[in-house]
Amino acid sequence: MALIVQKYGGTSVGDLDRIRNVAERVARTFDQGNDVVVILSAMSGETDRLLDLAGKITPFPDKREVDMLVSTGEQVSVSLMAVTLQSMGYKARSMLGHQAEILTDNRFTRARILGIKASRIKALLAEKHIVIVAGFQGADANGDITTLGRGGSDTSAVAVAAALKADKCEIFTDVDGIYTADPNICSKARKLERISYDEMLEMASLGAKVLQIRSVEFAKKYDVPIHVRSSFSEEEGTMVVYEDANMEKVVVSGVTHNKNEARITLSKVPDRPGIAMQILEPIAEAGIGVDMIIQNTRAGNLTDLTFTVPKSDFEAALEIEQKIAEKIGAEDVVGDKNIAKVSVVGVGMRSHSGVASKMFAALAAENINILMISTSEIRISCVIEEKYTELAVRTLHTAFGLDESI
Ligand code: ASP
Ligand code: MG
Repeated sequence: MALIVQKYGGTSVGDLDRIRNVAERVARTFDQGNDVVVILSAMSGETDRLLDLAGKITPFPDKREVDMLVSTGEQVSVSLMAVTLQSMGYKARSMLGHQAEILTDNRFTRARILGIKASRIKALLAEKHIVIVAGFQGADANGDITTLGRGGSDTSAVAVAAALKADKCEIFTDVDGIYTADPNICSKARKLERISYDEMLEMASLGAKVLQIRSVEFAKKYDVPIHVRSSFSEEEGTMVVYEDANMEKVVVSGVTHNKNEARITLSKVPDRPGIAMQILEPIAEAGIGVDMIIQNTRAGNLTDLTFTVPKSDFEAALEIEQKIAEKIGAEDVVGDKNIAKVSVVGVGMRSHSGVASKMFAALAAENINILMISTSEIRISCVIEEKYTELAVRTLHTAFGLDESI
């Protein structure tokens, strides 16, 4: 007998039939003699719908009220799940974040979990209930409802699993695991059996939307192995775990791509201390996140500075920089939205050299020009022209030996 936490995402509970499917799966796990805690997202599209409603009233609704509003999505799905399980003859009880004693800080819409007491969950499990907890939400010290940021029910699941010292944390979603590349553009992509927390963190921050980044950080910190799998099949998915010696043998575990960034270049900027700050501080102040930054030196004490921002913030960032360029005496500002970032990720990079040159050679062989480069200990990213994204991903997938073996 084990204590199992299962999280189901919005698509998995998108309508009553799907809720019934999930309930059957939960019931099966329970019937095998396990204690089961279920964490749910809101029914698919519901969180967006609620955010839209508030947005129609005013562009910047009060964040406390936003959390009050969007947290209702999960209230609906957990109660429907409890009713379904009860109708099947099971003892089931749904719970909101504060009833599960999920304490967070008070940063509404992006709160962080501070602790989970879970005493009611434990008492209900002892009475052989299936406990269903609303994901994505908690409450601050005043008892005000908070939410954990988009995709936050993954983090709820991992945190509850950690608090209960669960034997398993299964994240059921609409894909069947983590792949070596996006199967939609790379037909030779393979499902990974295992991936390390660090690799998963890199992939998640590169745009792989399978898990919320926070949930992986949490899992790593509290040593919770995550099993990512499909709610529509019985197949094993991907385990996200601590890295082991075997993982190091593989140089690159995955190739990712991201078309959500745009770049901005200020050219012929007078090169003096404080210039990068003058260029980038207003961007940060506008709440725009900068990803890559490159500075090139030119003759005559001039420099070029290039950086990337999310495409959705491109126009705002460009406008800010046009003003700054004038102020600091830069010659020109140019922006480019038609870029993509392709990256190779792997813990094996720590002990293997030559990964970067292999990547550059593979791209060069296809005549793909590299516009920007950035690296971490276990990742190399290149910005290229957007139109070459698919070709680049496939080329790198082959070059690093990731293609499906026949
Ligand atoms: N319902 C929330 C969202 O759509 C939380 C989640 O699904 O994880 O972001
Ligand atoms: Mg999700």
